[in-house]
Amino acid sequence: MSYRHVLEGKTLDLPVGKVVCVGRNYAEHAKELNNPVPTSPILFMKPSTAIVALEEGFTIPQDQGECHHELELAVLIGKPLKNASEADVRDAILGYGIGLDLTLRDLQNRLKEKSHPWEVAKAFDGANPLSGFIAAAKIPRPDNVDIALLVNGVVRQQGNTADMITPVIALIVYISRHFTLLPGDVIMTGTPAGVAALHSGDALELRVADCLHVTSRVI
Ligand code: ZN
Repeated sequence: MSYRHVLEGKTLDLPVGKVVCVGRNYAEHAKELNNPVPTSPILFMKPSTAIVALEEGFTIPQDQGECHHELELAVLIGKPLKNASEADVRDAILGYGIGLDLTLRDLQNRLKEKSHPWEVAKAFDGANPLSGFIAAAKIPRPDNVDIALLVNGVVRQQGNTADMITPVIALIVYISRHFTLLPGDVIMTGTPAGVAALHSGDALELRVADCLHVTSRVI
């Protein structure tokens, strides 16, 4: 596959690993989908084949119902983490980026009704458009950073990571108790409210505070 991780504009000699995602990490988003707020993080994964470069534009599956954008702060892992402490996690974060946890919402709802796994709705090829990363030092407080998504010039999602139920560092500590994280793995940290369907031709702008600004489009 052609996707490679990029940090500060440089392509990294790092494998492209798994993506570990968290569901319902912002209470307002749990509410908008009529889901209860969880008592511990709801984890799921996407394979490396789900990742595509956000900056290049991306396609969405056709004829499978609505494909929703979920705007999420992404974290690039640079060192192995297993049963990690908060200090271990801080030391292992290479960079931060912005990504979309694309979700085939109609399909996911049908699977949820049957209590079946979500994978086909969330882990398909191209389901994780991901920006280049900025150095971790540029976001010294990942627990207090604004993220925003504009679609065709209109704000669709706007949030601050301070509103996360499980903040970034604690989330990665929790993940590392369940799944060993390896260099090149990515964490998607959950979406604020405002998820909605994307359409071919949509023009997107994604921002992390004043540090990262990416444009993209649905091809
Ligand atoms: Zn998500």
